[in-house]
Amino acid sequence: SVDIVQDVARDENLSVDLPGYEKAMSRQRTLSQESWKGSGEEEIPKAYRGLLARGFTSRFLGYQTLISKTRVAALLVDGKETTSAHEGSRVEVVLDQTPFYGKAGGQAGDIGWLSDGKVRFRVTDTLKFNQGLVVHKGHLEAGSLSVGDEVKAQVDEITRNVTIRNHSATHLLHAALREILGDHVKQAGSLVAPDRLRFDFSHFTQVSTEKLAEVERVVNEHIRENLPLHTTEMSKEEAMKTGAMAIFEERYGKTVRLVSIGDGVSMELCGGTHTKRTGDIGLFRIISESAVAANVRRIEALTGEAALRYDQKLERDLRTAASLLKAAPDQLEERVERLLKEHKEKDREIQSLKSKLLSKKSRDVLSEAREIGGIKVIARKMEADSPKELRESADRIKDRLVSGIVLLGAEKEGKVMLTCVVTKDLMDRFKAGDIIRQLSNIVGGKGGGRPDMAQGGGNKPEELENAFEGLYDLIGNGVV
Ligand SMILES: [Zn+2]
Repeated sequence: SVDIVQDVARDENLSVDLPGYEKAMSRQRTLSQESWKGSGEEEIPKAYRGLLARGFTSRFLGYQTLISKTRVAALLVDGKETTSAHEGSRVEVVLDQTPFYGKAGGQAGDIGWLSDGKVRFRVTDTLKFNQGLVVHKGHLEAGSLSVGDEVKAQVDEITRNVTIRNHSATHLLHAALREILGDHVKQAGSLVAPDRLRFDFSHFTQVSTEKLAEVERVVNEHIRENLPLHTTEMSKEEAMKTGAMAIFEERYGKTVRLVSIGDGVSMELCGGTHTKRTGDIGLFRIISESAVAANVRRIEALTGEAALRYDQKLERDLRTAASLLKAAPDQLEERVERLLKEHKEKDREIQSLKSKLLSKKSRDVLSEAREIGGIKVIARKMEADSPKELRESADRIKDRLVSGIVLLGAEKEGKVMLTCVVTKDLMDRFKAGDIIRQLSNIVGGKGGGRPDMAQGGGNKPEELENAFEGLYDLIGNGVV
C-alpha cells in the first residue's frame, strides 16, 4: 500500500508524489472498469453494422447443446464481407444458428471449432452484437469456407465448463455478499473467464478478512448442498414481479431469462450459461478483495480445479518457507516474529559496535599527533571512497583534537585525495586553502578551499608520504 511506500521512501530520504499516485490510480481504475464493462454491445464495428442492417442474426443453441450442424451465413476477411475464405486466413464467421456463446454480460466468448470433412476452422473468440448477431473469430487452419457451406460447430467443452463454474459461482457470491454484508450490496460489474472470476459490487468499506471467510464459507455450503439451477424465460414485467436481481445497465430483450438457484437462494436476470447444479462448481476460493472506485469493491475468486491448485500452491509455499526456517508450518508465524525481533536486535548491536569502532579509531589517530612548535599536527593515510567521506573523517578528528591541523590523504583508482582542516584558533597563522594548494603540487595536482577546510588531490599516489612530510616542513618553518 501507499503507507509502506512512504515508510520506505522516508528511510531512503526520498519523497512520494502522492497527488501523482492518486491520479495514476484513478486512471488505472477507470481503465480496468472500461475493460470489463464490455457486454460486447457498446461499440459496433462498421463491418457488423452492415450485417445487422440486413437482419443477420443467429439462433443461440448453446444453453442446450455444445455441438450442432449449421450453415455459414456471412464471412468477413480483414473486416470486409466476402463470399469465400481460403486456408490460412483470419476469418470472422456468422452462422445461421450456433452453440457458441458470444461475449456478453461479463461472460467471455466461447472457443472451439467449425469443421466439415477437410475444413477446420479454429474459433478463438466469439462476440455478440445487438442481442442477435454472433461473430466467430478465428483461423482457417485447413480447407476453404464459402457462404452457404454446411459445417459442424463445436464448442470447446473443457473451456466452457470451467467458464460456467465461474459464472454460477458469481451468482452464489452475489447472494452470499448480500446475506453477510447486507442488502445494499449490488452487482456493479463482473468478468467471467475460463481461468478466473471477478465480481464488483457496491459497498462502503474494505471487507474484513473474517467477513470474506464467512462469504467463502456460505458459497461453499451452497455448493455442497448441490442445489439445482433453473432458468425460465419471461417478460421483463413478470421478471420484475419475482424480485429477481437485475443489472439494468445491461441491455435486455423483450423476454428476459431468470436464473434461480435452489429454493430462493439466488434469483438473477442473466443471459449467461450455467452449471446444472451448484455441486458442479466443486470448490470456491476468494483470492483477493480490493477497491475499484468510490464505494465499489472487487472480489477475485477461483473455482473447481483452479481453486484446488491455488490451495495446493499456497500450501507448498508455506511448507517451503517453514522448512527454510526449520519450523513446522503451524509454528511459522511465531518463528518469523522471533526472527524479525532478533534481526532488529542485531541491527541495534551493529550500530553500537560501529560507533564504538569509530571513536576508537579517532582515539588511535589522536595518539599519533605530532607537536611542531606547540601545534598538534596529524597527517595520515585513510580509507575513503570519496572526498566527502575524507572530509567527514577529518572533521571528526578535528573535533577531538580541539586545537591543531589535520591532513588526510586517501588513494583510489590511482588517484590521491587530500583534505586539510585547521582549527579556528590557528587560522590567523595557517590557512587550509594555502596548505592544500602547496601539497597538491607534490602529488601532481591542484586544490584549494577555505581557511578552515580545503580539498585537493593529484595523480601521484606514490608521493603521498612526501606530501605528509611537506606539511610538517611547512608548519616547522611557519611558512604558511
Ligand atoms: Zn449471470
